[in-house]
Amino acid sequence: MPPLLSIDDALARILARARPLDAEGVPVAAAARRVLAEDVAARVDLPPFASSAMDGFAVRAADLPGRLPIAFRIAAGLPADRPLAPGEAMEISTGGAVPEGADAVVPIESVVERDNEIEVVSHTHSGAHVRSAGGDVRAGDVLLEAGRVLGAAQVGALAAAGVAGVLCARRPAVVVLSTGSELRVPGDKLGPGQIYESNGPMLAAAFEAAGALVERIGPIPDDEESHRGALERGLAADVLVSSGGVSVGPHDLVRRILAELGVEEHFWGVAVRPGKPLAFGSRGATLVFGLPGNPVSSLVATELFVRPALLALQGATRPGPLYESARLASALRRNAARDELVRARTRDGVGEAILEPLTGQESHMIARAATADALVLVPAGEGELPAGEHVRYLRLA
Ligand code: AMP
Ligand code: MG
Repeated sequence: MPPLLSIDDALARILARARPLDAEGVPVAAAARRVLAEDVAARVDLPPFASSAMDGFAVRAADLPGRLPIAFRIAAGLPADRPLAPGEAMEISTGGAVPEGADAVVPIESVVERDNEIEVVSHTHSGAHVRSAGGDVRAGDVLLEAGRVLGAAQVGALAAAGVAGVLCARRPAVVVLSTGSELRVPGDKLGPGQIYESNGPMLAAAFEAAGALVERIGPIPDDEESHRGALERGLAADVLVSSGGVSVGPHDLVRRILAELGVEEHFWGVAVRPGKPLAFGSRGATLVFGLPGNPVSSLVATELFVRPALLALQGATRPGPLYESARLASALRRNAARDELVRARTRDGVGEAILEPLTGQESHMIARAATADALVLVPAGEGELPAGEHVRYLRLA
């Protein structure tokens, strides 16, 4: 193998080639998980008018304390038909439009109502329980910036501000190709030496969560013809991700066939455990990842490299991976040559999370990995990281 790249160098080379795809219009209700391709301004003030924060009575603060006749009953969506005159009150519901002339709302709890009149014994101040127009955001102000991944709160804010549709990068088309003559699909019976193929569904799930449109191919057997056909098909996508067949064994055909098909390899081999034999290349605008076959290696490479690439293709400002910091519950031995991503479980500590490394850290152990919610980054080096040490980790979805 050539000298191994560091995780950061490998990521930088990948991101340098992951240019944003063109944008398309997307209805706001369908925009969750998409990445904004434009700054979006609020269409209206939020709230659009001064509104009541309480059920109660709209008044002039200067008229209190006192007895005020009820001149109108305002409800949400049913504003007053005239301004409030001095010395009057108008009944109002939460979200109702505070009438012109009123500058405060007295909550219903602070009022005695009798004979179409209210009596208020306390003082209030101008602005009490009134939500001012544009107090959240003003019409024309930028609500969300380009590069933002849209989650539930962002979809809510867009809708509230009257935005019906937004421009988002189109979803990357990704082909996930599983290689290996030993692979059978769940539901089939396993013969001698066979295992169930898990990378296909696992990678598809991860990439869809990152906004991709995924097509799966395979599993295909370890022969050149099958590889040629399937890889060529995959090269029509924005991103081709194969799993298996990128090591140095006699049946590892992926890199050689990719080269024959005109894929330029940008690197092969990263100083990371698991995931070392990762290959990355491109043909035209298509990015090509050759992930190692061991399921946990594929998972780690996805978190470190493929998900960030997919987000960068969609123009995300922070494609990640986004590390957080926490404390180790127990010591971890370091690998002398390679950074290691150790599967762990988080638990709540005092003011910060505690990371408990799991037993069973081998790269085929996907069942153990499925009980983890964190990947702890253990930098290459001598000795060990002691219990209590602060470390960086990635959250697993
Ligand atoms: P390879 O990288 O092809 O040498 O595969 C490494 C290990 O991962 C072998 O034990 C394979 O059987 C296993 N493997 C490869 N592809 C898959 C897959 N799609 N699902 C589950 N295991 C796989
Ligand atoms: Mg294989």
